[in-house]
Amino acid sequence: MYLKKKALLGRGLFILLVGIIACTGCSLSLSAPDSEAEEIECLADFETVARWRVHKGECTIEADRAQSIEGKQSLRLTIPEGEDCYIRMDFRENLISAPVDLSGYSLAVQYMLQRGEIELMSFYYVTGDRMTDLYYGAGLVDTCGNDTGRWMTSASHVPANFDADGNPRWDSIKTLAIRVKAEAGSGDVVINFDNWIMLPIPPECMITFIFDDGFSTDFTVAHGIMSEYGYAGVSFVITETIGNDGRLTIEQLQTMESDGWDIGSHTLTHPWLEDLDETAQTLEVVKSKEQLIECGLERGSRFFCAPHGTNSYVSHVTDVIGEHYLLATAGGGFATLPVLNRAHVPRIAWDGTTLEDIRSYIDVAAEDRLWLIFAAHSMTGDDVTKFEETVDYVHEMGIRVVTLSEVVDSMDWVYPPMS
Ligand SMILES: [Zn+2]
Repeated sequence: MYLKKKALLGRGLFILLVGIIACTGCSLSLSAPDSEAEEIECLADFETVARWRVHKGECTIEADRAQSIEGKQSLRLTIPEGEDCYIRMDFRENLISAPVDLSGYSLAVQYMLQRGEIELMSFYYVTGDRMTDLYYGAGLVDTCGNDTGRWMTSASHVPANFDADGNPRWDSIKTLAIRVKAEAGSGDVVINFDNWIMLPIPPECMITFIFDDGFSTDFTVAHGIMSEYGYAGVSFVITETIGNDGRLTIEQLQTMESDGWDIGSHTLTHPWLEDLDETAQTLEVVKSKEQLIECGLERGSRFFCAPHGTNSYVSHVTDVIGEHYLLATAGGGFATLPVLNRAHVPRIAWDGTTLEDIRSYIDVAAEDRLWLIFAAHSMTGDDVTKFEETVDYVHEMGIRVVTLSEVVDSMDWVYPPMS
């Protein structure tokens, strides 16, 4: 780990160039050992905590020299139990030239929960003088659960304030704000923030179709429909159920794989991982991967999806995933490219979402050049037509459909880059 900073001319005094080689996602073990130092831009480095003030709620801001990813310190925020706290940093108040143009960037904040439990956390990019219209789309971030004592990365887009047409104004950001609500009954929250990073977004939006649980309709319905356009998807299978009634067979999985699909792990038996002891957790996560490899499904065995859509991995599970997988999906919302948190790539539920809403998600992703991952399950009845129409719409829009392999195998789309 090393630090390099210099004032960046042209974009405003506040922006520093920071080189980070080990700023990993939710799991420090998802690191890229041989990656080269990348120059990334840092929107806020929390080296001057006096720039931050409490906007709302009772909470305290301090410098913490004992904890930092880069630089000499991080910002430590202490929030009393149950309190809803906002802190903010206004560029102008700090003699930083504003507004700042953040369009075209993926933004993420690195943080470490030290104590307590968070009910919700959001990062805001404010254009106006007042913090209004605070909720936008699926704005609330998926935190990495309430795992304590490790640096995590949250990539989220929550613009506040909009233009007359209701579009977020990314090009004129004046204030950064963080909202953290401490869970009632779980003690005070102590949380540290370090880099607020920005990475250029690739020139186009991408869409991935994920199917959970290994239903045979992945093959009989989805594979057929997607093949018409030359698209491939991702099937997360419960490996102990392969070949069961209504589930994919090894032959079907192998055909899908040779047609470009990724066949990933959705554990051995689909348990609530947090309810198991560590030995059983390891078995579910690791043995399912081994079984995929034994079936000749190596390419997709690099990907994991936690059962029950959980986004609150317990520490041990995160460690094991980090050790054995390149990328794991969890939680809800739009994903960004580059991927800023390999352990928690969010998805949007396709099941139960109307075609109209699906189309608007696709429109937003296309407009903001996001990575939209749809997650579906078995496909029967009206869902078949809805899926055909979804795929037609994606094709009509000319959006690129990618598998997870296509993302991780392209160095530029994952941060930090993988060797
Ligand atoms: Zn599932």
